[in-house]
Amino acid sequence: MTEVELIIVGGGPAGLTSAIYSARALIDTLVIEKMLPGGQPVLTTFIENYPGFPEGISGPELAERLESQAGKFGAKIITSRPVLNISRKEEGFEIKTEMESFLGKAVIVATGTSPRKLNVPGEEEFTGRGVSYCAVCDGAFYRDRVVAVVGGGDSAMDESIYLTRFASKVFVIHRRNQLRAEKILQERAFSNPKISFIWDTVVQSIEGDRKVELLKLKNVKTGEISELKVDGIFVYIGSTPNSSMVKDLVELDENGFIITDNCMKTSVPGLFAAGDVRNTSFRQLATAIGDGAIAANSAERYLGELSWKV
Ligand code: NAP
Repeated sequence: MTEVELIIVGGGPAGLTSAIYSARALIDTLVIEKMLPGGQPVLTTFIENYPGFPEGISGPELAERLESQAGKFGAKIITSRPVLNISRKEEGFEIKTEMESFLGKAVIVATGTSPRKLNVPGEEEFTGRGVSYCAVCDGAFYRDRVVAVVGGGDSAMDESIYLTRFASKVFVIHRRNQLRAEKILQERAFSNPKISFIWDTVVQSIEGDRKVELLKLKNVKTGEISELKVDGIFVYIGSTPNSSMVKDLVELDENGFIITDNCMKTSVPGLFAAGDVRNTSFRQLATAIGDGAIAANSAERYLGELSWKV
């Protein structure tokens, strides 16, 4: 089993920031990422509220920069390796992937979140054939087409605006008559002529032949059922934490987020959590980066104390 001082599970902004700090502190650091480095920002078109970039920065560019900075200080990054389980061992923690196991004296879990599903008929069947959770990945397929976006948060507004680059029409379907998104995004969406809002409405089913053709909608106030012809539907209704690999090890809150203190310590000594996967009040790029730095500092202290005990 490969032994490493610090293993960081997840190569998004929190994980890569931890890697920058720990590798720079000369700690033997391994990042294990389930897909490609970058996390959520890679799936985000444009980030304009990350301090220090007044012109904004594209998600993929920021991800690339974080990865190269971590690599520059000597962090090793392995990709396409979903971590299945983390367990406590006498010498540290065993990190199991499908093919192999690693042993880390300390671990930072920075696995982020995954898109929440609508759980309506047709959603699973048409995923990849009109149902998408990533406008950056799939938006270009909808040039001059009609699409729907479900949700009323920042993600739904950001991505609806992005989709107007391609689509001829974007319908935003929201379950209330007020958006949750920040005001600046609301104003941009309201003033975009290609965007129309369908309020107080939920999607009942997604229908079509070989690809999405139609949404059955229900007005939650009147109970009225209607149909909306679309070529695609983008779901942005929040996210769920990727914490299953530690569900039997650390304390989670009622929604599955990892409980930490403000030093990013979990209920298990030597295991830290950072970024969107932990129980935090504000999930932003800037807060994930801050979490990552704190987690690395806490892990460094923990490893220092371990070496004292030897
Ligand atoms: P979010 O803020 O949790 O919003 C989820 C939206 O989906 C809400 O409008 C919610 O409706 C709706 N929703 C939830 N479950 C639903 C269901 N089953 N059916 C229909 N609608 C449902 O999620 P998010 O927009 O992905 O944002 C997540 C975090 O990332 C937030 O902290 C956000 O600020 C941050 N973020 C920031 C930016 C930015 O700063 N530009 C961009 C993207 C994300 P209700 O409003 O009725 O609850």
